[in-house]
Amino acid sequence: MAKSFHIGLDLGGTAIKGGVLLDNTAVHEARCESPMNYEGCLEALSNHAKILAKAAGATRNDTCTLGLAAPGAVNKPDGVVLDSPNLRFLDKKPLRADLHARLGWSITLENDASAAALGESKFGAGKHHPSFLLVTLGTGIGGGVILDHQLWSGTGGLAGEFGHMRTHHERPCNCGGLGCVEAGLSSPQLLKWAQAEGSQADSLPALAQAADEADELALSIFKRAGTHFGEALAQVALLLDLRVFLLGGGGAPILPHLKESALQSLAARTLGRKPSDFVLEQATCGNRAGWLGAALSSL
Ligand SMILES: [Zn+2]
Repeated sequence: MAKSFHIGLDLGGTAIKGGVLLDNTAVHEARCESPMNYEGCLEALSNHAKILAKAAGATRNDTCTLGLAAPGAVNKPDGVVLDSPNLRFLDKKPLRADLHARLGWSITLENDASAAALGESKFGAGKHHPSFLLVTLGTGIGGGVILDHQLWSGTGGLAGEFGHMRTHHERPCNCGGLGCVEAGLSSPQLLKWAQAEGSQADSLPALAQAADEADELALSIFKRAGTHFGEALAQVALLLDLRVFLLGGGGAPILPHLKESALQSLAARTLGRKPSDFVLEQATCGNRAGWLGAALSSL
């Protein structure tokens, strides 16, 4: 009997992470390098999808679908990446149509953080929470909204762009705006902030290590960053009454350093709520969340 293979690809700045779902189970996964131009990217994505399908055992008689998670704002109905602040060569490119021309499969395009939220919802920390916001912390900051176990990607795919919500600083963001959450709290920005205040840390883990060793500057940076983070989460809570926030992405391990101040400032801005009314915890799928969710979105 013919089988249905659902391939997920997560296009990032350095790697394309991918895998295959068969009967809702991950049966194979592998990554390859991300080329830094559009044509090379199309080639790598379509080749990697074919390699994954073959390795998972798909034959000519089987059906394959592809879900692609891409960084930036996507227009989901048209399958176009509209604005990718950290991979500019994707801007306005009809990724879905171009990949369909190469593969002939049914293809879904999803924002990478929204895909990761879907992955966490079905396979990770989100399994226990019907509704939550996943925030991905890395080179940029993304977000994905799950409402009643369903991904809410909005009218056209813009929902959950937490990283470009406005906070009260004035630092410029890669999106062209000022004061975005991403421009204050992304991993490189946090490190820059710490260094500007005299920290010797050369990476976010090193800054976290300094905080673990009770370095006062590192502790103070994380406390203030947590306060900003909580302020931004409060805006989401006020709009949607979400009580669960998951932190994913490469920067997620710093959560213990931000958690208390984030919960305090979140509660202080949500009209009588207490820190204990909210859940703020680390996502658990790691860097598999994006491809898992992308594959699920293609079902
Ligand atoms: Zn921005």
